[in-house]
Formats: sequence, structure tokens, C-alpha cells
Amino acid sequence: MIKTDILIIGSGIAGLFFALKTAQKRPDLSIVIMTKGSAERTNTQMAQGGIAVVTDLVNDSFEKHIEDTLQSGGGHCDENIVNMVIRQAPQRLKELIALGTSFDKNQEGNWDLGLEGGHSHNRILHHKDSSGLEIEQSLLRSLENMPNIHLLEHHLVIDLNTEKRDETVCSGAFYYDQSNNQIKYINSRTIVLCTGGSGQIFENTTNPEIATGDGVAMAERLGLEIEDMQYIQFHPTALYAGEKNPFFLISEAVRGFGAHVVNKDEKRFLFKYDSRGELATRDIVSQGISMEMQQSQTDHVYLDCRHLDKTAFYKHFPVITAHCNKLGLYPEKDLIPIVPAAHYQCGGIKVDENGATKIKNLYAIGECSRTGLHGKNRLASNSLLEAIVFAHQASENICNTIKEFPFSIKVFVPQLPFAKIKTECEKTNALKKELQNIMTTFYTNEDSDINNIKAKVERIKNATVAMINRSEIILPVIELSNMITTAQIVIKQCTIERKNTTDFLFN
Ligand SMILES: Cc1cc2nc3c(=O)[nH]c(=O)nc-3n(C[C@H](O)[C@H](O)[C@H](O)COP(=O)(O)OP(=O)(O)OC[C@H]3O[C@@H](n4cnc5c(N)ncnc54)[C@H](O)[C@@H]3O)c2cc1C
Repeated sequence: MIKTDILIIGSGIAGLFFALKTAQKRPDLSIVIMTKGSAERTNTQMAQGGIAVVTDLVNDSFEKHIEDTLQSGGGHCDENIVNMVIRQAPQRLKELIALGTSFDKNQEGNWDLGLEGGHSHNRILHHKDSSGLEIEQSLLRSLENMPNIHLLEHHLVIDLNTEKRDETVCSGAFYYDQSNNQIKYINSRTIVLCTGGSGQIFENTTNPEIATGDGVAMAERLGLEIEDMQYIQFHPTALYAGEKNPFFLISEAVRGFGAHVVNKDEKRFLFKYDSRGELATRDIVSQGISMEMQQSQTDHVYLDCRHLDKTAFYKHFPVITAHCNKLGLYPEKDLIPIVPAAHYQCGGIKVDENGATKIKNLYAIGECSRTGLHGKNRLASNSLLEAIVFAHQASENICNTIKEFPFSIKVFVPQLPFAKIKTECEKTNALKKELQNIMTTFYTNEDSDINNIKAKVERIKNATVAMINRSEIILPVIELSNMITTAQIVIKQCTIERKNTTDFLFN
């Protein structure tokens, strides 16, 4: 059994930024980061658009960013949290830059600020159209200089362990070490869940295969509060060509740059739904596209970039244009086929302003958490920001409180036998696809038969539990089991919401 002062689960922006800040402040603490794939395989590295921060205090202001966030959140944001995150943003941005992340500047040497839907001003700092990759790589590079951080790749955390002292505390975690195919236990004084989102529960998603809702499912099994999971954000412009899982994203910044959304007759239609047209918030644009697809009986619409300056477009979006070109699509002359796809989990594990859950030494930060920043619909490029602000908050809090949490003296020997790799992958994949299909039907169709949906998910669950009992193909089965738990939470919370509102789709 290994032990560590702090166990971080996940190697995206939330986990890495938290680890680096904490290691700098408290070199005396040992920190382990476990991640179930290779370190870079995260939602973070997929981010294109960038990070929303007010840096231009002449034309923009914190108040305007706050107002845009509240408006996008549809009256469901926690105003104190919105204030805290947006006012703290410049300080956290400085730290991110100090850790080696670079953002683009214009010819005058000022930040080249992008515009995205729902923002009243250009305020998105970006690194071309691969901002997330730049952040992920720079943070991983910084990790190399930190002797008190140990990064363990291909370590899947299965469940957290709690014990009763004066109150219930988290004392460690069971995990699957894929390098030697064993289930093991780690003893830890504090645990930070940074497990990201759950887009993979849907058929159409921009999220990579790691986004299976593991943190939410683990927290649910501990009886923690999970909130706002009915608010899954669908991104309006996933590329409807090439790879289908995940869908390749065409960043919101492309619409900010001036691209139009058009139907099969090459007509713009979004002004029917909002006076901001293409630059309305994602919920509105996704809903408008979905209505247009229904009315015109088509399975996609298009992004029209043909009127834009080709040189500037290719310079600003090298990754997107290269990807399109590879598929034979040339934005300067072709319409780009697009559909809405599940993109971001606005809800998650309920935490306070320090990222702390109801279990005092268990924290959740990043996309797996529900902080109150996003409300019903996240404002574009506010999630990378949320991750670094809450990483800071949690880090400060943990450095001050960890002395209250000694190591557990109990020794846990995992009860599960060694994992056996079996050949039932096909069965797991089939169940996963079925779940994704059911969830897409359920989420995008308010009239779906809820009892039928629940029964189907229950049947998938029973088949999965049977596989777990036979301890087969541990990683995909554990992930599938977490996806089912997360899907059931989404179904439950959506059903309640749908009873209370008539206008819910894509919120
Ligand atoms: C295509 C795309 C584009 C985006 N663009 C933007 C953008 O421009 N701006 C913006 O603000 N946001 C954007 N987002 C959203 C943003 O990228 C994410 O919300 C953010 O990166 C989440 O960071 P995170 O650290 O919480 O999780 P992630 O970066 O997803 O990291 C999760 C980590 O947890 C690990 N993990 C999960 N479960 C387990 C387990 N059981 N055991 C061990 N490890 C586990 C994973 O392996 C991974 O390392 C985008 C998202 C996508 C998918």
C-alpha cells in the first residue's frame, strides 16, 4: 500500500494547476496524481477557443463579464461565485502564464482577444486554436521540476474509501494499476477529484473517451450531493464529417470571427431565435439549429466561412483548417457540415467556494464539480477559468487544514481479486453504444417515454453488474458502470426539470 498527503485524481487543467500551486507552497507535502490514461488525454487538451479573462479595463470590465455570465446562466448562477471567479481571473491568469503557458498577442503587442457567443466584448485569450493543448503541455512540463509530485499514468481510481472519526472523512482510494493488472489501495490525508466531465454518456459528443463521469459516480456512491446534471451543454458546431466519437469541434471562436450558420438553402436562420444571431449563447444556437434540422428534415446544417479573409482565417485556426482540409473540406470555398453535440457538464459534485464537498477532506474541482458559476448554461470559455480559480481556492484551503487530517492507521487489502482481462470487450462496447443511443434520444426529445428509458438503462446496468461480479475487463466495465450511474442522475434530474418547465431542451 502506498500513501500520500494529497491524492489528486485527474491530470487536466484542474488537477495539474492545483498540484503545481500546492507543491510550490508546501514542498513538505507529498502529492500523487493518478490518471486513468496517458497524462495528456483530457478534455483540457481538446480546448480550442481559450480562456475568458477581462484584461482590457478600458473597453471591457469585470461587471460586463459578470453580467454576461449571469445572463448565459439563465438566472441559476450563484452571484457570489460568479463575482469571485471573474474578479480573481487576472491573478490566476498571471500564474498560468508564469507556469509557461503562452497566449497570442497582436501586432501592437497586446493580447489578441477573441470573441465568443454570449460575450459582450472580445475577452478570450487563446493560443491559436489549440489553447487547451498549450495549457496541458506547459503544466505537464512544469511538473517535471517538482520533486514532491508523482504522476501515475494508467491508474484508474475505482472508488474512494471513507471512515468514521469525529465525523466521516475520506481516507484513501482503491485503484486499478493497468501496468501490472492489479487492484491496489492508496492511503491519503486529502483527496481532490479532478475527473472532468461525462460527455461520453451521449452518442454525439465532443468529449474524448475518458469523459465517463467517474468522479460524479464515485461521489454519488458516497452519498454526496450531485446538482444541476440536467444542464448538459450541447455545442452547436461539431463537425459532421470524419470521426463521429468524439466529434471534432469547430470552435465558437469561428463564429466570433464572423462565420455564419446556414441551412440547406444556404440561408441564415438564427436571427429567428435571438437578435444576436450566431453570437447568441450556446443553448439558444443549439436549439435553433435543432429546430431547423427538424423543420427541413436534415441531419445537419452548415457553417459558412466563405466570405471571410482566407489568410487571416487559416492563421487564426490552423488546427481546424488542417482538419477540414484533411477531409477534403476547404472553408474558403466549401460549406462546413455541423451538428450540435454534448459538450459540457454544467452541474456535478456540489462544492463550496473552496471546492470542498460535504466530506471535509474531499474536494472536487474542474468540470466534475458544481460550483454555481455556470447556472443552466456555461458561458463560452468560462470553464478553464473556473478550473484555475477553484484549484487556487482548494489549494489555499487544503494547505491550511491538512494538519487536521492525519493518515488512517487502518490497512486495507482490496477485496476484489486480481483483475482478469477477458475478451468480452465487444459486449461492453455494445452496451456502451446502447446507453449512448438511449441518452441521446432521451435528452434531445422531451416526449421520450421515461419509463421505457429507465427500464432500458436498468437492463444495461444489470448486465454490467454481472460482468463486474465476474471481475471482467476492469477498465471499460468500471467506466461503463460509472456512465450508467451518471446517466441515471441526468435522467432523474431532467425529469424533475421537465415537469417544472416547458422550455428545457439544450438548456
Ligand atoms: C473539444 C472541446 C473544446 C473545449 N474548448 C474550451 C474552451 O475553448 N474554453 C474553455 O474554457 N473550455 C473549453 N472546453 C471545456 C474544458 O476543456 C473542460 O471543461 C476542462 O478542460 C476540464 O478540465 P478538468 O481538469 O476538469 O478535466 P479534464 O481535462 O477532462 O481531465 C480529467 C482527468 O481525469 C482523469 N480521470 C477521469 N476519471 C478517472 C478515474 N476514475 N481515475 C483516474 N483518472 C481519471 C482523466 O483521465 C483526465 O486526466 C472544451 C472542451 C472540449 C471537449
